[in-house]
Amino acid sequence: MFTDIFNRYDWEDVKANIYSKTAADVEKALSSSKRDLNDFVALISPAAVPYLEEMARISQQLTLQRFGNTMQLYIPMYLSNECQNICTYCGFSLHNKIPRKTLTNAEMLLETAAIKEMGFEHVLLVTGEAQQLVGVDYFVNALQLLRPHFSNISMEVQPMDQEDYETLIPHGLHAVLVYQETYHQADYKLHHPKGKKSNFQYRLETPDRLGKAGIHKMGLGVLIGLEDWRTDSFFTALHLQYLEKAYWKTKYSISFPRLRPFSGGLAPKVEMNNRELVQLICAYRLFNQEVELSLSTREEEQFRNNLVKLGITAMSAGSKTNPGGYVVDRQSLEQFEISDERNAAAIAAMLKQQGYEAVWKDWDQSFCQ
Ligand code: SF4
Repeated sequence: MFTDIFNRYDWEDVKANIYSKTAADVEKALSSSKRDLNDFVALISPAAVPYLEEMARISQQLTLQRFGNTMQLYIPMYLSNECQNICTYCGFSLHNKIPRKTLTNAEMLLETAAIKEMGFEHVLLVTGEAQQLVGVDYFVNALQLLRPHFSNISMEVQPMDQEDYETLIPHGLHAVLVYQETYHQADYKLHHPKGKKSNFQYRLETPDRLGKAGIHKMGLGVLIGLEDWRTDSFFTALHLQYLEKAYWKTKYSISFPRLRPFSGGLAPKVEMNNRELVQLICAYRLFNQEVELSLSTREEEQFRNNLVKLGITAMSAGSKTNPGGYVVDRQSLEQFEISDERNAAAIAAMLKQQGYEAVWKDWDQSFCQ
């Protein structure tokens, strides 16, 4: 289990190592033909900031080599904002007195029709963590209902047991996103004081359970803003490296959610500016040529346009972060505010203008049959 490796590291030691990197370490990392975790550390360090252009150039080249000039597009469908957890940074947190909503079958189909109308074949199902209402049975039903309509279904819901994933995968579950939020144990407790999510270790071992269950793809990441992003990113990369070895049949993706405003919001403890986000994206690409890198509509329009060529391979578009947000209940409370409000067609046009092709479907369920 990853916990065994994680326990060998001390947060403060890792942080000190990152901040002690020099220009020589960065140059060595840049010139290496096979980069290791130590090179990744150099590339995310402050010492790498003056080398950003070179990093971007190599990142672009490696991404084109492996993925071509394509961009996968996906859209989230929020199924429920019920949640039994308290998370200090989330609008769906238990202590937020908001109207709660969970989509019925008829409502899911209405949302599906609206999403299909936009052209999407890849949907990301999102819920809060409410075992009774949106547990395994609800997900089995949702997958059965939606599978005929989409070629690719991902989920971002509460961490589950291995058997639960084994139940869901045959129903068409293709990928699961599970962000650690932060690898800083003490701060994790501060931000997750109540509910099942307060169990740091259960969350940390979720990718292991997913790997053992044989998931096709899993997504990792941290919530940028909770803690020092460089140190958190080191642990994410360590996690990725471990998982790729342990569960080599599974594909991996990394996301870069930066803390966004929501009703009753928490200000980020650590700010990450745009240049730093570019640095992180390029560092991941230089470290790992296979990993998919995904960017959500949390980021602003112009910035997203600029990132297309720098290493990103997947983007969400036209997103609503509230249950029923596309047609059923447009006014329900969103989980967080989005920045890029463009619809899917506008994103596809922007990609085309940059010489990229929007990919709506790169996977077909019939491959599994
Ligand atoms: S982040 Fe997830 S678990 Fe936490 S309050 Fe929001 S929906 Fe619930």
